[in-house]
Amino acid sequence: MSDDITIGRPRPSVVGLPAYRPGRDAKQAQIDHGVVDAIKLASNENPDGPIASVVDAVIAATTGVNRYADHRGSALRAVLSEWLQVSPEAVTIGNGSVGLLQQIFLTYLDPGDEVIFGWRSFEVYPIYSQLVGATAVRIPLLDDLTYDVDGIIAAISPRTKVVMLATPNNPTGTVLTTADIIRIAKAAGNDVIVVIDEAYREFAGAAGGDPVHDVTPQFPNVLVTRTLSKAHGLAGLRVGYGVGHPSVISDIDKVAVPFHVNGLAQAAAIAAIANIAEIEQRCAAIVAERARVEEVLRSLGWWHPEHHGNFVYLSTGARSMEFATELEKRGVVVRPFDGEGIRVTIGSTQENDRFIGAIKELGVPA
Ligand SMILES: *Cc1c(COP(=O)(O)O)cnc(C)c1O
Repeated sequence: MSDDITIGRPRPSVVGLPAYRPGRDAKQAQIDHGVVDAIKLASNENPDGPIASVVDAVIAATTGVNRYADHRGSALRAVLSEWLQVSPEAVTIGNGSVGLLQQIFLTYLDPGDEVIFGWRSFEVYPIYSQLVGATAVRIPLLDDLTYDVDGIIAAISPRTKVVMLATPNNPTGTVLTTADIIRIAKAAGNDVIVVIDEAYREFAGAAGGDPVHDVTPQFPNVLVTRTLSKAHGLAGLRVGYGVGHPSVISDIDKVAVPFHVNGLAQAAAIAAIANIAEIEQRCAAIVAERARVEEVLRSLGWWHPEHHGNFVYLSTGARSMEFATELEKRGVVVRPFDGEGIRVTIGSTQENDRFIGAIKELGVPA
């Protein structure tokens, strides 16, 4: 109804943005395909609800919501700083880590500036690039779906202001080594911010290294972002955090929306970190399920990249959309990337069994 008229004069960069299209949910798949009990393995969510102590903390915090929350989230920053063993000035929080990423783009990128990232990677990067009028420089992944580190380094130019590195990468699940992160950070230099987006680090084990301790102390241009959405099961509450040089942290803090991390989210995050062992156990169970799913995929003849997140990726190529639809008809909603592949979140044991059952019926694409 409103498609053919525009009221007001949106910025050209906004006019060019694709309209927001939420991921397909299980209910929509049920309606479209006449199936019952469809499951959603499309958004890398945690199959488990929040742990009991988090639920208690959120309920307790509800009685205070007539007040604005602490804008800086000082208590949460203090908890993070103690837990991570970094100074409080080296930590910030965000409305999910995508909130922090938006602050980073707003802080550093003017129209015409360049932001480099591997591709395919997290879809938010090109959207935020376009929003601020920056030029997105996409460096294609190598054949094994890892980053082309030399290509990324070669693309750094005087116009480059930001390099975005998701590790584990979404949607492929591959990781960068600490040595490669350091190579990129060195090549970038202090005029370029290198963002290490570690949304899935809790599923990566030792493979992902620890850039907070192994990179940020020597490289003030490196900023690490993390989230409580995936491993901690708090996607719906929106809380993420960043660790980096205090001068970078104070610059990105300036562009935060006032009170961007609400009080319930702050309370939940504090409780989650206080009970991190319980969360780590749950992550270990998801990693074990990932190995089980991978084993089945290999036995069926699928090649897959080295996964380190809470999802698997299959190179279904030209048949990706069709493959996703066939899985949906079997009640399993996954995330397709047209012409490239499908990403399937590791869910509960029963959900993963549903995916396994469905993929067995479909066979390996030629
Ligand atoms: C899911 C995801 C995020 C963040 O999500 P938030 O819910 O905003 O914290 C960030 N980066 C990548 C690569 C992701 O896949």
